[in-house]
Amino acid sequence: MNRNNNPYLIAGPCSVESREQLQQVTQALCVLPQVRLIRGGVWKPRTRPGGFEGLGEPALKWMKELQEGPLRMADGNPLRFCTEVASPEHVELCLRYDINAFWLGARTTSNPFMVEEIGEALRGTNCQLLVKNPLSPDLRLWLGAIERLTQVGIKRLAAVHRGFSMYNNHGYRNAPLWELPLHLRRAQPDLPLICDPSHIGGNRQLIESLSLSALQLEFDGLMVEVHPHPANALTDAPQQLTPDDFTTLVKKLTNFQTQRPASPDARLSPLRQQIDDIDHELLRLLSQRMELSRQIAAVKHESQMTVYQTQRWHAVMDDRLQLASELNLNAEFVKELLETIHHESLKVQLD
Ligand code: PEP
Ligand code: MN
Repeated sequence: MNRNNNPYLIAGPCSVESREQLQQVTQALCVLPQVRLIRGGVWKPRTRPGGFEGLGEPALKWMKELQEGPLRMADGNPLRFCTEVASPEHVELCLRYDINAFWLGARTTSNPFMVEEIGEALRGTNCQLLVKNPLSPDLRLWLGAIERLTQVGIKRLAAVHRGFSMYNNHGYRNAPLWELPLHLRRAQPDLPLICDPSHIGGNRQLIESLSLSALQLEFDGLMVEVHPHPANALTDAPQQLTPDDFTTLVKKLTNFQTQRPASPDARLSPLRQQIDDIDHELLRLLSQRMELSRQIAAVKHESQMTVYQTQRWHAVMDDRLQLASELNLNAEFVKELLETIHHESLKVQLD
């Protein structure tokens, strides 16, 4: 997968529902050179019982039949399907039908035992595996799954950001919390990072802007749900795009990519220099501030005062928020920043 110049697109229905549905959507998607994998859910983890849970083995059979038929990916290679696996039995059945690209769903990534078992089932296979983030905003759980899979020798790994399940999702089906996948990239800089705007948005109106945000954040690719007749879809109807709408989206994304300059604008360099200088100054000031905290700690200790001084802290916060407002700074940001600094100051004083 290459970083951003040519985003790696995965598209297809949330669930495989019939031979015709799979054939129609495959026919429309395989002609697009940007589409590298066709997705289709075969086993569907449903939050509540009673819904459509996927067709299982017959869906794999249709994928194999299509792979052996006349359709090809746009680059001339055989069709490539991927599906969600949630157990080693799923992996084994897929391998029997020559399906060798998979994703771990959010619910499976949350379960280290299952990640390990699936990893074992894939050992030595050279299959491609996409690891969705866990349901909760827990970076360590996501990283842990990736580490377990790396340990069993799976090389063709990628992470998929599908948003996080929160009490308040801020209008999304799953809150994007973009800082988490960016932290993941910092920990695993060579791991391709894919965004799934369909499960973040939960609504087809949001797919374009979420996709563009992901490209702005240098994601390597996107996984988008596409269904020949979204209104009739058995799962995730509100978020699936028609093949025509998806093709229009791909054109927009390609325009966005090709319009980007090959090298950075020369005006950036002096501005970045100023940012570097300011950051260095901020750190020097923070170091001075922590030194003052140490001196204050000594005085408090000698005069038998407690470290945490509620009134003083509330007064400090009120004063800084007043200044933040005069300086046109976001109050929430300043509040979090000061809380972090104060927290460190307390730690220094308690040392
Ligand atoms: C899906 O991709 O259809 C799916 C169920 O995803 P998630 O695990 O992200 O909910
Ligand atoms: Mn879905």
